[in-house]
Amino acid sequence: MDDCIFCKIIANEIPSYTVYEDDIVKAFLDISQGTPGHTLVIPKKHVPDLFAYDEELASAVFARIPKIARAVKASNPTIKGMNVLNNNGAVAYQSVFHSHFHLVPRYTDHDDFKMIFKDNSANYSAADYQKIQQSIIDHMED
Ligand code: AMP
Ligand code: ZN
Repeated sequence: MDDCIFCKIIANEIPSYTVYEDDIVKAFLDISQGTPGHTLVIPKKHVPDLFAYDEELASAVFARIPKIARAVKASNPTIKGMNVLNNNGAVAYQSVFHSHFHLVPRYTDHDDFKMIFKDNSANYSAADYQKIQQSIIDHMED
């Protein structure tokens, strides 16, 4: 889709810190880094939200999430758990209307849930993003 920022990321017209890619999905660091390692998994096919998936696309996309989640978890030994979030509709805090799944690592048992929606990008240099990206890539199963 012409005006879609995530379609542009898929087409490499906008740069991203990609950690995984195949014919069905692309996974890259969320620029906001709600927590360190915060990753987005998106279908390469432009669908605006979960309501637009058919069974085949849903199966193919979700089949890839556990492997990517394992790599994110393994990328940092202090990660204890992970929230997988999927917002559908502006009322549900969706801001980019190309469907995506947030993988949000959790480090403590007293994390403020709202931190996931915080934009921490001002605290990250390109080198910081690249370090996290590389560690996730290094832990990706074949
Ligand atoms: P949502 O609010 O669920 O629609 O999430 C959209 C997410 O996309 C937000 O967490 C943004 O930080 C993230 N985002 C927007 N633009 C980019 C980009 N160019 N690269 C990486 N993440 C982005
Ligand atoms: Zn799109």
